[in-house]
Amino acid sequence: MSKYRNLFCSALVFGFISSGTAIAQVQNQTQTTLPHVAVLATGGTIAGTGASETQTTGYKSGVLTADVLLKSVPSLGKVARVSGEQVSNVGSENITNEILLKLAKRVNTLLAQPDIAGVVITHGTDTLEETAYFLNLVVKSDKPVVVTGSMRPSTAISADGPSNILQAVTVAASPTARGRGVLIVLNDRIGSARYTTKTNANTLDTFKSSDDGFIGTLIDQVPHFETAVAKLQTTQTPFDVSKLDSLPEVDIVYGHQNDGGYMYDAAVAHGARGIVVAGVGAGSESLLTLPSIKKAVDKGVVVVRSSRTGSGYVPEDSAYIGLLGDNLNPQKARVLLMLALTVTNDPARVQEMFQQF
Ligand code: ASP
Repeated sequence: MSKYRNLFCSALVFGFISSGTAIAQVQNQTQTTLPHVAVLATGGTIAGTGASETQTTGYKSGVLTADVLLKSVPSLGKVARVSGEQVSNVGSENITNEILLKLAKRVNTLLAQPDIAGVVITHGTDTLEETAYFLNLVVKSDKPVVVTGSMRPSTAISADGPSNILQAVTVAASPTARGRGVLIVLNDRIGSARYTTKTNANTLDTFKSSDDGFIGTLIDQVPHFETAVAKLQTTQTPFDVSKLDSLPEVDIVYGHQNDGGYMYDAAVAHGARGIVVAGVGAGSESLLTLPSIKKAVDKGVVVVRSSRTGSGYVPEDSAYIGLLGDNLNPQKARVLLMLALTVTNDPARVQEMFQQF
């Protein structure tokens, strides 16, 4: 009897061990069949820490590293195989052209690897849209690239970083996100880098897709895309960062009442090759600034008119000087003008690019 009991026990133990091994094998298979998403961390509030769970201003940006960020979201393991890399660890007000180029080159290298399904960039929200639009113009792949951030530091109550990382990785791992250009994903929304902008200095729902709306939403962690962007992006642009070690200087001059020309003179004296006018209304320029803007253009500086209102198009108007910035806000117009000037100095060709991209 005891012999049979022993046999029964060994069968049971063997059964447990073999089914345990089988479960582990299935888990490993699931793990290895999941898409590989590379996460590049650059800093910002998403990697920030505060002194208490109620501190949501005055905290320190760019403290946590990529590995710590990824470990804070255990459910990532169900969505993708993720690997983390640190590109920088700064508040996004300190993202320089050098960091932009380093990031873009790394994104292109990763996307060229067959095993990489998509890339996520964690970033400070203040200039997130500039990096996203830059990548939208220079990434040479149809694979998803998603930029995310958070409004609350990691230590805050209801910190939005972990959920935004999970959503960004989910979108980057999704084949439905391919060919849509660089995406900005925060707060359940999927926006195109071309149109999405930070609109509020403090609130969680700060990112809005002005005029043209978000292109998708995440429901129960499933991305739903509704629209596509008609402007050309990624593989459809002529910009090649692999050949670039620096970007031309482009400055933004902000329009206001009693505006003088000296900010334009200073930009030209500093060596600007391009100037974006953040004009009032639909890109209007004050009479007091026109002589300086004309001097800049005569020296070969490419001037582009945009609007400081935050949305809307800049129309042709012979009263003012400069190319038309389409409906790009001043900071995104600067990104496109920098890249345009890496390819051409011809104002007609630059104007064409403002219509295309
Ligand atoms: N100052 C921070 C940054 O842009 C703000 C944020 O991430 O929300 O890096």
